[in-house]
Amino acid sequence: MNIGILGGGQLGRMLALAGVPLGARFRFLEPRSPAPVDSIGQVVRAEYDDAAALERFREGLDVVSYEFENVPDASARYLAEVIEVFPPPAALEFARDRANEKRGFGRLDVPVPPWRSVDSLEDLRRGVSELGVPAVLKTRRLGYDGKGQFVLTSHDDVARAWEDLGSSPLVLEGFVDFDRELSIVGVRARDGSTAFYPLVENTHRSGVLVRTEAPAEGVSAGLQAAAEAYIGAIMESLDYVGVLALELFEVDGGLLANEVAPRVHNSGHWTQDGADTCQFENHVRALMNLPIGSTAARGYSVMLNLLGALPPLGAVAAEPLTHLHLYDKAPRPGRKIGHINVVGPDRAEVSQTAARLEALFPPESGPA
Ligand code: AMP
Repeated sequence: MNIGILGGGQLGRMLALAGVPLGARFRFLEPRSPAPVDSIGQVVRAEYDDAAALERFREGLDVVSYEFENVPDASARYLAEVIEVFPPPAALEFARDRANEKRGFGRLDVPVPPWRSVDSLEDLRRGVSELGVPAVLKTRRLGYDGKGQFVLTSHDDVARAWEDLGSSPLVLEGFVDFDRELSIVGVRARDGSTAFYPLVENTHRSGVLVRTEAPAEGVSAGLQAAAEAYIGAIMESLDYVGVLALELFEVDGGLLANEVAPRVHNSGHWTQDGADTCQFENHVRALMNLPIGSTAARGYSVMLNLLGALPPLGAVAAEPLTHLHLYDKAPRPGRKIGHINVVGPDRAEVSQTAARLEALFPPESGPA
């Protein structure tokens, strides 16, 4: 089967690494050079809205998916007219705009933090007085890894926040004093069957994921069931096919939805070494119309992102329980250039190994 992927970053690379053993061949549409997929499949090097390149890209493909959700609507829709595209373009639209997304959550009874749509300074003033401070102002589109966000800690911050972000459509959210951040990754096949990985705990620094622990400690069956019901409802409503991730805040034993990613997700990277079937293989299985593989965890995992600079690889590889995944990207401050999965049967041992690995990280590593 010939699979086309819009985007040629590390997620595309890892999809191909998991899909090639299933007999899939991969072609990527990617504007940047070099790219992490260069050594792993064919690359059509062009912008996402280049009509001639889209023609060349889709020629001979059986199915198209993506690893990057900010593909222009027109391109996703054009492809969807001539070839099967999964997840469906409606999922891109759902996730792309934070106000749409929150309205969608609301329709499905998925709880969210209090929020307001902000299109003017007046809206922002009103929102801050209604929601109180602290509050988080976010761009509705193109925000990721904490970019396009401003935390207001007093009413005096309104002017500065507006100056910073006011040129784009915005949402204002009440600041959630969460106990921890969790996420769930689910997969839905073409026949509508679903499977879910266990809830994981995520640690962010400066809005960027640095660490995932899987499964999250002390998750009740009720909490896992609630998370599965939320992500299941989202997938069902979009007639989704493939892997979807839902980021959540845990507050007082309940869950609030933060955002969805209509693709494989950084908080699912642990599954490469810590689950029966990894998120990348399950996404490819869904594309190929194969049954979904078991999503059960094998022991305990910690995933550590490598940001900006690499630790000494010999010392990393010398650590038992450790699996290194590099993306073939040049180190640059804050850039995601790889991750390490630590997997074993004993949570304490996994956690101690992760701490020893973190001690090897050079001082310049971490979010920019
Ligand atoms: P996002 O880009 O929405 O995923 O936000 C990045 C990170 O900022 C999240 O993972 C949280 O750590 C933090 N954050 C975002 N929204 C809120 C909020 N409403 N309250 C508290 N922290 C937040």
